[in-house]
Amino acid sequence: MDTSVDSNSKKHNTPQTSVKISCPNCGNNTDFVEVADGVILSTHYVQNRDGSFSQDGDESQILGEIRFFCGECNTDLTQFHQYFLDMLF
Ligand SMILES: [Zn+2]
Repeated sequence: MDTSVDSNSKKHNTPQTSVKISCPNCGNNTDFVEVADGVILSTHYVQNRDGSFSQDGDESQILGEIRFFCGECNTDLTQFHQYFLDMLF
């Protein structure tokens, strides 16, 4: 897998065979919702000499399922979730 990142530009090379996800129910292809179950958000803090705290990183764990829905009609589009992740920049 090519993981090189061009830090000088936010432009991405769109694959020529790019296919957009669209909702089979309502045709929406712009608004999507990702829902994660059982998320544990853990944030580490360090207390400084003066009693203030500094954030020292955070670890989040997703224990449950991640589901993916149409943002318009809430049809379950989880079958497209992997594609969504591949196209998420
Ligand atoms: Zn829809």
